[in-house]
Amino acid sequence: MNPLTLFARRFVAGEQPQDAVRVGERLHAKGIKATFDKLGEDVLDKEAARRATEASKELLRLIPAGIERNVSIKMSSMGQEISRDLCLENVSSILDVAKEVGGFVRLDMEGSKTTQSTIEIFHDLRRRYDNVGIVLQAALHRTPDDVKEAVRRGDHVRLCKGAYREPPSVALQDMGEIRAAFKACAHVLLDGGGYPAVATHDEELILDTIAYAKAQGVAPSRFEFQMLYGLRRRRWEQLVRDGYGMRIYVPFGTHWIPYFYRRLRERKENVLFVFRNLFH
Ligand SMILES: Cc1cc2nc3c(=O)[nH]c(=O)nc-3n(C[C@H](O)[C@H](O)[C@H](O)COP(=O)(O)OP(=O)(O)OC[C@H]3O[C@@H](n4cnc5c(N)ncnc54)[C@H](O)[C@@H]3O)c2cc1C
Repeated sequence: MNPLTLFARRFVAGEQPQDAVRVGERLHAKGIKATFDKLGEDVLDKEAARRATEASKELLRLIPAGIERNVSIKMSSMGQEISRDLCLENVSSILDVAKEVGGFVRLDMEGSKTTQSTIEIFHDLRRRYDNVGIVLQAALHRTPDDVKEAVRRGDHVRLCKGAYREPPSVALQDMGEIRAAFKACAHVLLDGGGYPAVATHDEELILDTIAYAKAQGVAPSRFEFQMLYGLRRRRWEQLVRDGYGMRIYVPFGTHWIPYFYRRLRERKENVLFVFRNLFH
């Protein structure tokens, strides 16, 4: 096995969908929910997009009854960069299977070149499906408007900071400003009456969400926290003990390199983890 594969195992459940489902079962036993992601992005040929689409359908069918059939997908692996119609057709077919099995599909948000297209495809899908949600990135200058629009439309939103490197013309660069933007967006979503997902490992943002929800009388059942597999495990269990909904993003598959590098770039402790293991 490639030695890096060993390190990636901290963040990736395994290569096969069965590996991810086993993790989902272990989380379920602890009262923690999961969203499963078959890793892959930036697909430029139709056949590969079709294979990625079929893999997501297979995954939805594989998740056993009793565990929420919740998957996250990247539309760049479903043909978004080839043609909008192809992507729409592929994602619609996934949503049809999700509907059949009582599942839910979250459209991950990728780099800012695709934000507008992702939102437009999402709006198109929402005309026909209720079992689909979007991700909005607090760092982007456009996001406060997108959040307001999502609340007005009653969309299902996951809020995160944004994992892609973006220029200052597109996104905030300062962590203090990104945190302030995240809090403001989270407040609007909590006030909005939907079921927002607050996706962060940042303690300041977790505590702010809890405090704001309490102050506004928003019950813990009206939103959930989300974190990534491999990060802050103890915190997942604490939040569940305190009565909050907790969902873990469980990636699996062989195309883990871009995902893995985004995690390394975000946090020096993740890089240290890799180096510690490299020299042991
Ligand atoms: C469920 C989920 C889904 C996501 N989906 C998307 C998506 O679709 N598109 C996208 O662009 N991005 C996505 N992201 C990634 C996100 O945008 C951020 O890049 C990523 O979460 C890092 O930001 P952060 O807020 O978690 O904290 P960071 O900015 O990484 O960390 C800030 C602070 O959090 C605390 N902290 C973080 N990690 C730890 C730790 N392991 N132990 C203790 N304290 C810690 C520390 O205080 C740290 O200083 C997703 C994230 C999650 C959790």
